[in-house]
Amino acid sequence: MQLLEGKKAAIFGVANERSIAWAIAEAFHSEGAELAFTYAGEVLEKRVRPLAESVGSKIILPCDVTKDEEVEKVFADLRETWGGLDILIHAIAFANKEDLANPYVQTSRAGFHLAMDVSAYSLIALAQRAAPLMEGRGGAMVTLTYMGSERVVPNYNVMGVAKAALEASVRYLAHDLGPKGIRVNAISAGPIRTLAAAGISDFKAMLHHVAERAPLKRNIDAEEVGKTALYLCSDWGSAVTGEVLHVDAGYNIMGM
Ligand code: NAP
Repeated sequence: MQLLEGKKAAIFGVANERSIAWAIAEAFHSEGAELAFTYAGEVLEKRVRPLAESVGSKIILPCDVTKDEEVEKVFADLRETWGGLDILIHAIAFANKEDLANPYVQTSRAGFHLAMDVSAYSLIALAQRAAPLMEGRGGAMVTLTYMGSERVVPNYNVMGVAKAALEASVRYLAHDLGPKGIRVNAISAGPIRTLAAAGISDFKAMLHHVAERAPLKRNIDAEEVGKTALYLCSDWGSAVTGEVLHVDAGYNIMGM
């Protein structure tokens, strides 16, 4: 029996084959899950559709998470097609490029709101619609975060603050949804070269720094995040909720 046999998973945040969400999708597919994907615009549809179809997905829907009507439609479609949902993957974040390069003290009100809306509030928007579909099925939700929420990582700036809010949301959502048997966790991944990462100034230096100082003396890859998501969303993680699990070659434990 495969780990996710008979399970239905909605994956938010695939932009291309380098996306962390795609690595998670591949891990889920290899363990028998049925998958639905969303994309954030027409340009992305061209990249996401062939990927989704390669793992047999028949549900590929538009969803800009800042638009309630698009979020609403995704879950209405999932209810109609699947009748329920077992797994939600939230791998979405955005901040203006200048807010990931200028000093944090210069963050604008609009830039702050945007980063918070797309990167933190969106988990709540998805969770509140996913939860009714998960009731009675023991659902699991996983989001992606980064250590810039806990410590200062130069240039991560407003995204670090949004990730701190996201991680706190994971705990509050875990508390709210736990009585319904729904688990909510976050994976705090080490730096990985993706489209989103390209927006962070001097990302190359981050990779180099981690590989030099992490206990495992290397960077991580998206496949390793996929395997951790598999653990968290399968029966193997059945007693784990409200957790922020670091998948970072141990980098976060270092003091010096
Ligand atoms: P990615 O492939 O660029 O994925 C980010 C996704 O967020 C894209 O699909 C992007 O779509 C989507 N998105 C942005 N704004 C959106 C909106 N308004 N509505 C819906 N979707 C939207 O990069 P990734 O690195 O895999 O990022 C996935 C998650 O992992 C993010 O939360 C990121 O912060 C987190 N993470 C990444 C790293 C890393 O080093 N790569 C480390 C730790 C955590 P568009 O391309 O259309 O904007």
